[in-house]
Amino acid sequence: MTEDSHEAASHENVPSRQRKRFPGISSRAYEHPADRSALVALRKLSGFDTVFKAMSALLPERSLRLLFLSDSVRVSDVQFAHLHTMLLDACYILDLEKVPTMYVAQNPMPNAMCIGLDEPIIVVNTGLVELLDEEEMRAVVGHEVGHALSGHSVYRTILLFLTNLALKVAWIPLGNVAIMAIVSALREWFRKSELSADRAGLLVGQDPQASMRGLMKIAGGNHLHEMNVDAFLEQAAEYEAGGDLRDSVLKILNVLPRTHPFTTVRAAELKKWGESRDFQRIMDGHYPRRSEDKDTSVSDSIRDSAAHYADTVRTSKDPLMKLVGDIAGGAGDLGGKLRDRFTGNGGGTNSGGGSGSGSEGNGGRPADDSGK
Ligand SMILES: [Zn+2]
Repeated sequence: MTEDSHEAASHENVPSRQRKRFPGISSRAYEHPADRSALVALRKLSGFDTVFKAMSALLPERSLRLLFLSDSVRVSDVQFAHLHTMLLDACYILDLEKVPTMYVAQNPMPNAMCIGLDEPIIVVNTGLVELLDEEEMRAVVGHEVGHALSGHSVYRTILLFLTNLALKVAWIPLGNVAIMAIVSALREWFRKSELSADRAGLLVGQDPQASMRGLMKIAGGNHLHEMNVDAFLEQAAEYEAGGDLRDSVLKILNVLPRTHPFTTVRAAELKKWGESRDFQRIMDGHYPRRSEDKDTSVSDSIRDSAAHYADTVRTSKDPLMKLVGDIAGGAGDLGGKLRDRFTGNGGGTNSGGGSGSGSEGNGGRPADDSGK
């Protein structure tokens, strides 16, 4: 508590209320399960590794930085000092030692992002700076720092590249089904990752109302007096009633041109989490630590979500999901090997040589891993 007030006293933009700090917090504390499953599915796509390597070669970190250096304002104690303070504050609350570089870009779209292949860079558009008040902005900065802590910037960069810049690069076959599958998987993951980052934003701001207001403003512009939180959340309930958020890429794709419905889903998800026991436990100081990240070998959580996602893909009637499933199962790729390791299928004795489709043979279930 003493360190809190000591830090707070030196910055006029730090809220006067006491906030908790989360030393050593692992990103697992706030990551939404759907985010993890989508990421697992993404990594399993054949061709993803190739695309990733190509990106890294083509987009050296330096040029990414230069792009923003030449075109945006780098946040510091003399430029957008209030954002700089918020950034330091967010890193302090989430205990991120290395503070990411932040830029403000001249763009009326109320948006922010975290990109970068080696190191995360945070970019905030002027549209957002003008739209949000201090506390709403604090949640947004926390959201972006959450992306950084989770290592999301790599995937966001690839998505940005494939959707915005690839048109200029002839060798990327945008019409290729594998690339299309990667882009849709990236988009799906991207939306799910927002749910995780929103939670990080709430952990940083610790003001649920401000988080909610920020989302409403992003959805509806600066017309808070015309909006109503309950009606907004009702909208979200209506949208979700349409089916399981997790299992339809198509549904997500349908929403693409309109951010509005998705923002309502984010609000509903965040409200639910903010009122949950999980959130309370974190606030009480009980949360997974980074120091334990290695011990809880990724396999545990990944195995669960991988199994869930593989099932969803396999059994989906959705033609797009089938396409993704076909590609993912079609190659003896890294994904297949990983899956085999997770399901204990390494020997490949019961998979009949078919890479990836083996588990489908025995009635749709991996047969309890033959009692291992
Ligand atoms: Zn985000």
